[in-house]
Amino acid sequence: MRIFNSMTRKKEELIPLEPNHFKIYVCGPTVYDYFHIGNARPFIVFDTLRRYLLWLGYQVTYVQNFTDIDDKVIQRANTEGITTTELAERMIKEYFHDADALNIMRADIHPRATDSIDDIIALISTLMDKGFAYTAEDGVYFSIEQDPNYGRLSGRNIDDLMEGASERASYSDDKRHPFDFVLWKFRREGEPYWPSPWGEGRPGWHIECSAMGMAHLGETIDLHCGGVDLTFPHHENEIAQSECATGKTFVRYWMHNGFVNIDQRKMSKSLGNFFTVRDLAKLYPYDVIRFFILQAHYRMPINFSDELLDAAVASWQRINSSIDLLTFSAKAAPETASSEDETIFEEAVTRCLAEWQDAMDDDLNTADALAAIFDLVRAANTAVAGGRVSKKALLNARDALTERLGVLGLEPTANQETTIPQRILDLVAERTESKKNRDFARADAIRDEVLASGYKIEDTPQGARVLPVDA
Ligand SMILES: [Zn+2]
Repeated sequence: MRIFNSMTRKKEELIPLEPNHFKIYVCGPTVYDYFHIGNARPFIVFDTLRRYLLWLGYQVTYVQNFTDIDDKVIQRANTEGITTTELAERMIKEYFHDADALNIMRADIHPRATDSIDDIIALISTLMDKGFAYTAEDGVYFSIEQDPNYGRLSGRNIDDLMEGASERASYSDDKRHPFDFVLWKFRREGEPYWPSPWGEGRPGWHIECSAMGMAHLGETIDLHCGGVDLTFPHHENEIAQSECATGKTFVRYWMHNGFVNIDQRKMSKSLGNFFTVRDLAKLYPYDVIRFFILQAHYRMPINFSDELLDAAVASWQRINSSIDLLTFSAKAAPETASSEDETIFEEAVTRCLAEWQDAMDDDLNTADALAAIFDLVRAANTAVAGGRVSKKALLNARDALTERLGVLGLEPTANQETTIPQRILDLVAERTESKKNRDFARADAIRDEVLASGYKIEDTPQGARVLPVDA
């Protein structure tokens, strides 16, 4: 598999440091509110990467943190009159509610910043000992001028940074350089704090991820992933403080997903506020949200709009219908078939599956992978309509389709095998047979009997389909 490494700015063969074992770190949410659709994208995209690597047979250790101490967490907790711990506990539960519904696998480890204070202090101590950090009036800072490699990931040197420096709010007036960033913030009134060798306080944001990443995955991590908005300063600072502390490469491959845009004009008119996943899920099912996000290549910008989401509902439904149709048609299909249709169908399935995997191997191109899925759906619908394909071929195609969707974290909904009783399916198959034998009286009688049981039969160009009456 090849992925685009943001550090080298080119596609590279993805090879784990330890044979057959990938160690992945993904920047997690700051737990002060429900998570935003901008956060949902990296969580879904890199969950898909993890699923694909597992499917390829690799072992994966996947770490995604919770930032549970931060200005926003403190501010929200104070507003609500609760502790930051109480707020974080609640929002972590809410995170899992949405993440589980989006079928995002739970990480192997979900470290919390406040559980990692010892690791954070140890890392800052090393930076102090090596002369990369210093104490200022309000905290401990990293001195970017001590790091000759600073700016490598974002492609900015310190001079470039200075040009925009005046626009940036500075935490401290006695920093040595405006872009020096805080490692440890000294205690302020009304804020939680921990003891440290430099005084009571709390960690800065960037140091948390370095400390948690290295504590759980080692000093060199295979893959570090996050949104492109984290490239600078967050990931740049993670690299600086980690590599200055260890003298080793912190991350071998950096992956960043593109921006998430919201067509605000349309949103305010038709959908209102849909900035959190929780709000969006009131309007669209979670599986559609996941499907929608994976329809775009992860490095491209994605635009949320009601038209595009409505289209995703229909597209996802087409895949589900095809799976239902394969299941249903297989019941009436012959056990074996040596027709030309059978050969064409099996070749089409093989080709689509190869295209699916080529797309996934090429920088996790889920957009093209889903295009291959749709080619398979079209081939399946044609095969079913022709009626000369074996049960085995239909079920093989269905299972292959379901398996590949599962790698994308997409679970086909309610296939008819489980939702329509077997007795009804048998009746429908008998009716198809009756029609073939021109026994229309029997066919009509079966239709009435099925209807009396609460199901309707629809004759489509692809064959008879059965649905609950209220569907
Ligand atoms: Zn991070």
